[in-house]
Amino acid sequence: MRTYQQQYPPLVIVVAVVSIAILIILIIRPGEPAQRMISHWSPEPMITRPDVPIDPLDTPPPISGALIPVDDTFDLQVSDGLYDSERDALTDEIQRAVAYASNRFGASPNDRFTVSVIHDKSCGMHGLAYTDVRNIQVYTCPNISRNRAVAILAHEIVHQLEHDYYGPAHLHTDLILSEGMATWGAGEYWLNGHADFRSFVDAQRQGGLFYPLATHYSGLGIAAMNALYYQWASFVEFLIQTYGRESFDQLYITGQSNPGSADYVGVYGKSLEELEQEWISWIDR
Ligand SMILES: [Zn+2]
Repeated sequence: MRTYQQQYPPLVIVVAVVSIAILIILIIRPGEPAQRMISHWSPEPMITRPDVPIDPLDTPPPISGALIPVDDTFDLQVSDGLYDSERDALTDEIQRAVAYASNRFGASPNDRFTVSVIHDKSCGMHGLAYTDVRNIQVYTCPNISRNRAVAILAHEIVHQLEHDYYGPAHLHTDLILSEGMATWGAGEYWLNGHADFRSFVDAQRQGGLFYPLATHYSGLGIAAMNALYYQWASFVEFLIQTYGRESFDQLYITGQSNPGSADYVGVYGKSLEELEQEWISWIDR
């Protein structure tokens, strides 16, 4: 499959602010629904990435590992040579992530899915969720600790749960809601010790990172994308805590891909801008 990768700057990057020091590799697949591919990163300190140019027409490396049934929920495929001596621990940790994400999201997968842990030779860590074909993927390498790969998978698992719960409407929902819910659902895997996303975003905002919610991260760079994912997670947290899950579920299926495209007025009787002001006040409390 053809991909376009937005690359990281060259050489080693040292990051002082750990809570927002995150690597995102954004992959765009022209012509495919936005939610087929989901972009990613990790809540841990930034990894380094050699400056290896990636041809936009490169195909992802083949997955060499055998497909192994893990339990009645998913099959696991790991590239040969990747985490070879840690397979049992990796399997246990992904099982835990599936259970954690399902519990937090409030629903289990409808059917089996495949988790692919793929060796990216350039160590460009990112995740993808092909929810319509039930395959979630993380690209990683032996130099990246497996817990970081699992943290990304926790987010991807929630995308699969979203598809199963909301149906095909998931494929074109408002980016605020799909990415916000996937990040919120990954909970402790992304919170870096914070109690909740409200607290995380409060700290992030005090650090000078804050965007209007209806901002598309395209072209804004990795720090902006990171910040928006956390803001969206916090906004989802706010909507569910304040107005309940039922209204959130009604909202989710009204989105039309772009951030801010869901029918906020129809569901809450308030515009996104009004809800955003309420959310900011809630963060300030
Ligand atoms: Zn995502």
